Amino acid sequence: VFISFEGIDGSGKSTQARLLADALRDAGHDVVLTREPGGSAGAEEIRALVLEGDPDRWSAETELLLFTAARRDHLERLIDPALAEGKIVITDRFADSTRMYQGTRSGDKRAQVDALHDLMIGREPDVTFLIDMDPDLGHARAKGRGGTEERFEDFGAELQHKMRAGFLGLAKGHPERFRVIDGTRDISTVAADVLASALADIKA
Ligand code: C5P
Repeated sequence: VFISFEGIDGSGKSTQARLLADALRDAGHDVVLTREPGGSAGAEEIRALVLEGDPDRWSAETELLLFTAARRDHLERLIDPALAEGKIVITDRFADSTRMYQGTRSGDKRAQVDALHDLMIGREPDVTFLIDMDPDLGHARAKGRGGTEERFEDFGAELQHKMRAGFLGLAKGHPERFRVIDGTRDISTVAADVLASALADIKA
């Protein structure tokens, strides 16, 4: 079973991905918890290329290619082998993040994003948890966290609102795999909600 977590920066998705992995392991499942960009050795190197250093080093198009290359390596080296061994793979971000970030951050690039996805990735998670969060709250949380990836998090409220609407739009278009979770509630309530949904999906 292939599960992804998506949401705007500061939505709490990374925490929820970790809590779900812990809970499923406690329930006896074999779980691989991973993240994007990154998740495999090569993809982590690409992550550093994209997220660290001069923000203007890459054009939007090159950045899209790098994110796609990272995802391809992640799939080949980690996700596919783990799924083949019958493990549950939980990834913090997958292709929906590229649809939103690379697809909308510098103009509408959804056609390029979709074409590359079809050509080089061609795969969706079985289940995607969208941790939905009020953008102003999410932005405050992300900024508070700081760190080396501040440049990507310093989008301002307007872009965060656009991202949230975009994620909700994706969810609406793919109800078969998206589970929209209200992330504004306290962490354990959200986690319980996610776990119940995941257990139902794993059985199904
Ligand atoms: O999920 P995480 O916070 O680790 O993501 C790191 C940064 O990379 C985020 O600030 C996010 O905005 C950015 N990102 C991106 N495009 C992606 C995935 C993440 O710009 N496809």
